[in-house]
Amino acid sequence: MGLDAPCPFCRLDEISQETPDFNWQRYISGWNRWFNFQCHSLQWRGAREAVLVAMDDISNFVDNILYVDKLTGISTFSRFELDTTEIFDHETGKEYAMVTFDIDEFRYINEFHGYSMGNQLLRYISGGLVGAMSGAEVCARVTGDVFVALVEWTSEEALVMRIMQMVDGINKRLDYVIPGIRLNFQIGVYHAREGERDIGKMMDNADIARKSIKGSRKTGIAFYDKSMGEKILKTRQIEARMERALRDKEFLVYLQPKIDLESGRVVGAEALARWVDDRGNIVLPGEFIPIFESNGFIVELDFYVYEEVFKAHYYRKTRGLKCVPISMNMSRIHLKSGNYIERFRALADKYQIDPGLIEVEVTETIFIENSGYVKRLVSALRSDGFKVSIDDFGSGYSSLNLLSEIDVDVLKLDRSLCREENLSPKERVILKNIAAMAKELDLQVLAEGIETTGQAEFLKSIQCDSAQGFLFAKPMPMDEFFKKLDGEW
Ligand code: C2E
Ligand code: MG
Ligand code: MG
Repeated sequence: MGLDAPCPFCRLDEISQETPDFNWQRYISGWNRWFNFQCHSLQWRGAREAVLVAMDDISNFVDNILYVDKLTGISTFSRFELDTTEIFDHETGKEYAMVTFDIDEFRYINEFHGYSMGNQLLRYISGGLVGAMSGAEVCARVTGDVFVALVEWTSEEALVMRIMQMVDGINKRLDYVIPGIRLNFQIGVYHAREGERDIGKMMDNADIARKSIKGSRKTGIAFYDKSMGEKILKTRQIEARMERALRDKEFLVYLQPKIDLESGRVVGAEALARWVDDRGNIVLPGEFIPIFESNGFIVELDFYVYEEVFKAHYYRKTRGLKCVPISMNMSRIHLKSGNYIERFRALADKYQIDPGLIEVEVTETIFIENSGYVKRLVSALRSDGFKVSIDDFGSGYSSLNLLSEIDVDVLKLDRSLCREENLSPKERVILKNIAAMAKELDLQVLAEGIETTGQAEFLKSIQCDSAQGFLFAKPMPMDEFFKKLDGEW
């Protein structure tokens, strides 16, 4: 009953002008509909109190909110879940794949072309996706630029072909909006086994596959396999243990000697983190540093490594033992915190560190990502007397420009520059010219990853100052390094 109709007994039509005393919505499952209830108290026939309750069937409105994506007009994920359940109930005997789509770097579209253009593209993409569904297949927009589809499975090859056609079709449509545009999609596929019903898990698995190729800058399709799930599980296990591991000193600092190529003497070391897990196995940085970089924990680990190195310097200095410069790695994640230099200085002051004995290794790619801030950081460290090196030099793309822009003390040549046992003619030309240029720029040159005498001899002949690598020594526990340093190596 609406409130707008005039009432023959009293002036109920006036009530509709007033705000109701209560207003609530309920789903009545027996009727499978949503209702809006309004409750008005009123004076009826003299002094008697009365309550008027009005019910409105608002199911269509609620359906629209819950099940239709406002921006694109296609299904929401809630609708998709209902549809998928229905398909699984009725289309028995068929196999299905859960496919999730994400657009590579969509935020740049919004930045360059504006949000309304971005929205327009999302509508065209949605239209393209809906148009590509056939028979008992459904699709939806999950959030932002992420879409999902449930499609029939015949074979991996057939599905790849079909998805690539979908992407081509979508890109052709987009051409009407922004001529020449071509979006890259990262697509994850999970092949649902017959009888499998857990839609959330299927989505999670398709997403795990999709995220394995995220940021690859080209359209790609990844199929979920068990090892991906295991990797995620491992990441979660590492994340669950990392903080306690740091408190319990499960992380150790190893030192890898640096050798002066002229004299053959140890002239320094690089500090490298190791994790001795609860079973006593040594875990290498390749397994945990990428995880710590993505969750930010690397900031704490780096400062832990710095403190261990500072403590060792303090201990040896106060006992009159020999000290050599030690370099320590700086992750690019520190740039986000903005207080690196203050924290670094405070820690160095606490252990009365001679800055000449400390070198900070900054990887080449950091300079490219955030050059203004990094430049200031490097010059602050150097003005305090600390040394700074460019780590992995030659592994990126704009190594040479970098040298004209940033003042550092040491170039650490990346392992990839010295690959061959006896160095190829091309490698020799490149190394020789980098070394000559570095000398003219007054930079020290250290070659990393040296494994053969052939490599070491060539580097010495081109006046490369020092080298680090398995040929001389592997990274070793701190006390082993200092024991060797004390008894003439
Ligand atoms: P990096 O700073 O370039 O360190 C050199 C890596 O090369 C070390 O690997 C070292 O063990 C390895 N290496 C040294 N000589 C040779 C050789 O002759 N042959 C080969 N094949 N490898 C050699 P590691 O210790 O596994 O560290 C890998 C990377 O992890 C490091 O590369 C660094 O980027 C990062 N890392 C290690 N410890 C830390 C840390 O405490 N903080 C941060 N932020 N990063 C760290
Ligand atoms: Mg390094
Ligand atoms: Mg390196």
